[in-house]
Amino acid sequence: MQIKLYNTLTRKKEDFVPIKGNEVRIYSCGPTVYSYAHIGNFRAYVFVDNLRRILEYNGYKLKHVMNITDVGHLESDADEGEDKMVKAAKKEHKSPYEIAEFYTKVFFADMDKLHIERPEIIAKATEHIPDMLEFVKEIIKNGYAYETSTAIYFDVSKLDKYPVLSNRNIEDQIAGARVDVDPEKKNPYDFAIWIKAPKNHIMKWDSPWGPSYPGWHLECSAMARKYLGEVFDIHTGGVDHIPTHHENEIAQSKGAFGKIPAKTWMHVEFLQVNGGKMSKSLGNVYTISQLQEKGIEPLAFKLFCYTAHYRTKLNFTFEGAMSSQKALNRLREGYIKHKVGTRKIDDSIKDEYKEQFLRAINDDLNMPLAMSIVWEVARNDCKSKELADLMLEFDKVLGLDLVNSENYIKRQSNIEIPNEIKELLEKRKVAREEKNWALSDEIRDKIKNKGYIVKDTKEGMTVEKI
Ligand code: AMP
Ligand code: ZN
Repeated sequence: MQIKLYNTLTRKKEDFVPIKGNEVRIYSCGPTVYSYAHIGNFRAYVFVDNLRRILEYNGYKLKHVMNITDVGHLESDADEGEDKMVKAAKKEHKSPYEIAEFYTKVFFADMDKLHIERPEIIAKATEHIPDMLEFVKEIIKNGYAYETSTAIYFDVSKLDKYPVLSNRNIEDQIAGARVDVDPEKKNPYDFAIWIKAPKNHIMKWDSPWGPSYPGWHLECSAMARKYLGEVFDIHTGGVDHIPTHHENEIAQSKGAFGKIPAKTWMHVEFLQVNGGKMSKSLGNVYTISQLQEKGIEPLAFKLFCYTAHYRTKLNFTFEGAMSSQKALNRLREGYIKHKVGTRKIDDSIKDEYKEQFLRAINDDLNMPLAMSIVWEVARNDCKSKELADLMLEFDKVLGLDLVNSENYIKRQSNIEIPNEIKELLEKRKVAREEKNWALSDEIRDKIKNKGYIVKDTKEGMTVEKI
């Protein structure tokens, strides 16, 4: 079935056809590892995981690159402020490399908790300086860049068209642009591709222009070309990348080799918190570990992401996340129920479910619609191992680790259950063994009044917080 993807470049949903046979080459802008990644960042990586898994489900082979930005990302995307890595290093009294190592480790630990597939290639910016230097030299040779006393700037006026990705109005931008950054800039919207390091700057490399370091946009352009060639299939990022980071990546590639580097540009909308922006000053920037501390599993957050299409804003609240936690448990119970079922299911029914699911995911990653089909299967009254297997097939795309459902349920029933509840459960077990159903029900109600629900399954009693 044809996959359709929305392309920010053409502002249309398009039929997706890989450039080269059965292989899909993807570049995803990865984290800047100066701090803990937050749940907004992880919405972006859950989206990339969906994209990967959907392409794989359709039989494609992937070559997927994700960068780790460990130098050159300034506080503002538009050449202003200090390098985020250097700032964090000063604050934490560590070297930028120690900072990068620590936060990269935490980042991948969180990715694993979310069952997000690893890209085939992870590219650290600091390990690709020669490729970046080469890219800058090509841009200069082609007449698209110039040197000032602070940096090498890309000369946007040399392009046939700028911007191409965003529909921002460049005239307005020129009028409103800050010109106090570098008075030697020819046009206010020119951007730095290579930055001369001020004295005492920690992260710098020798270059024909003295000790210096790469600009963030340039890093992605150079690493993408190194691993994926000049033009590859899909480039992903968050919507915040559209007006500056990706616009400038396109400009650089046109300057270096005359082409827009990717055919399809995909952007995930922002996760908001309580209807507004996530920001440190509001104290609402949450990490995956902080959700766990509040009893929300990483996979419940993943399921929460499926409540909205990736191109719409998603509003995070703890109530919403908590209902996703409950929904995840219900999904697991649906799977367990079917797993021990013996009923036969008509092939035509299974085929219909499969077709509906495929149609949803292939329609620009419509995960909310795909989930509605998964729920139909989970809730089907006909208990059948065949439906459990179907859920596992769908889980290749969902990545919710449904195959281990029993373990998650058991683990939940073992954790955080107060002794008082455990004692009541024990008494109820005895009552049931003695077939004293009235007492068993009475104890169940007592447990319920204390905030826990008891369920009797084939494997025995389980208990959950209400
Ligand atoms: P950064 O580490 O800041 O470079 O961001 C990593 C990724 O997270 C980028 O793709 C951003 O576009 C994305 N991102 C940042 N904040 C949010 C948010 N609130 N919701 C969704 N994606 C975000
Ligand atoms: Zn990037």
